[in-house]
Amino acid sequence: MATQQIAPAINAWDVAQRQFDLAAERLNLSRGLRKVLREPKRELTVHFPVKMDDGSVQVFTGYRVQHNLSRGPAKGGIRYHQDVTLDEVKALAMWMTWKCAVVGIPFGGGKGGVIVDPKQLSQRELEGLTRRFATEISIIIGPEKDIPAPDVNTNAQTMAWIMDTYSMHVGYTSPAVVTGKPIALGGSEGRNEATAQGAVYTIVEAARHLGMDLRNCRVAVQGFGNAGSIAALLMAAVGSRIVAVSDTTGAIYKPDGFDPKSVLAWKQEHRSVVGFPGTSTISNSELLELDCDILIPAALENQITAANADRIKAKIVAEAANGPTTPEADEILHRNDKFVIPDILCNAGGVTVSYFEWVQDLDRDFWTIDHVNEKLRAIMTRAFASTLDMSLKEGVHMRTAAYLLAVQRVADATSLRGLYP
Ligand code: GLU
Repeated sequence: MATQQIAPAINAWDVAQRQFDLAAERLNLSRGLRKVLREPKRELTVHFPVKMDDGSVQVFTGYRVQHNLSRGPAKGGIRYHQDVTLDEVKALAMWMTWKCAVVGIPFGGGKGGVIVDPKQLSQRELEGLTRRFATEISIIIGPEKDIPAPDVNTNAQTMAWIMDTYSMHVGYTSPAVVTGKPIALGGSEGRNEATAQGAVYTIVEAARHLGMDLRNCRVAVQGFGNAGSIAALLMAAVGSRIVAVSDTTGAIYKPDGFDPKSVLAWKQEHRSVVGFPGTSTISNSELLELDCDILIPAALENQITAANADRIKAKIVAEAANGPTTPEADEILHRNDKFVIPDILCNAGGVTVSYFEWVQDLDRDFWTIDHVNEKLRAIMTRAFASTLDMSLKEGVHMRTAAYLLAVQRVADATSLRGLYP
């Protein structure tokens, strides 16, 4: 009987540590500092009961990890997904540390996750799960300590429940404990679009650097959640042609392009992008390898690996997702002259506008959308320029360049603070 080769699953935490090691080696960081920055500061695991609609009790498992707090309170989203693991949350928390440092906002990295398929829960069950999870992690979150935000399968409503739960515990309304809230509760203009908007600002800079005209570009987007769907709309608005998008149910493709706004309406009605009139159905992995100019992975980790990197045809890979590319794939893409805008730079618009939201909440003073986007554009453009400079100066690809900038900033902050006691 022929034995089938099964590739070992890729562990995101292993990837994150390897990415860090590469930068630490190049920066010649001291052994002590490497040991500190290689591990998260805190990892909280909670198992908590939720009363389900049928009267039964289910126990869920969740995590909140704080990677590094040298530059400020922990910051990062909470995701709900059936495949969440502690290692994944650790990786996502570490990536948040570097992300905040790349764009120069005064936060450390944190992340949370609950093992749950939220599509299987009613709205009431989701609220119960969210409130109890918020209670369980309330011992380490707070406006000065650790500020959650939306991530995969969580949204402004989830943040409203967390804000309310935390506020009930402390006895007063505490809007700055989470970001990505509804505007009515102290959310920021532009936060919902911020991840995609920030990514598009970096794509505009990348295209300028490479001499590409975005109006002639064909774009494929993997993932049609908050980041992916809005990125598709914004890329269409700058004149690019959206040729493929996907969600968990599959991908759609039309070589001469389609209107992503109509796809969004279709998805709202049919709960899937698949079947959108005039498109053919392909798989999520076929989408990655399509003949296009710009590929925007906007779903989960480990999508571009040693197994498919050689077949990526897009010139620009703009990582709206966290961790979509493995270190082996990075080398292959670089060798094939692909321009990767790494996650910690490309998708940093989300946390940047989260920072604006936190500042507005603490100031009790709210900004216009134009002010938000102007400041976001300035930060993203500056971070892109510093990363590109580093990449050209050091002769490294954009991910290593972003890591060199970020890890050095965090290492400086950590060593300036010194070792307590
Ligand atoms: N979940 C988003 C990210 O991965 C946003 C985090 C935040 O705004 O704190 O960057």
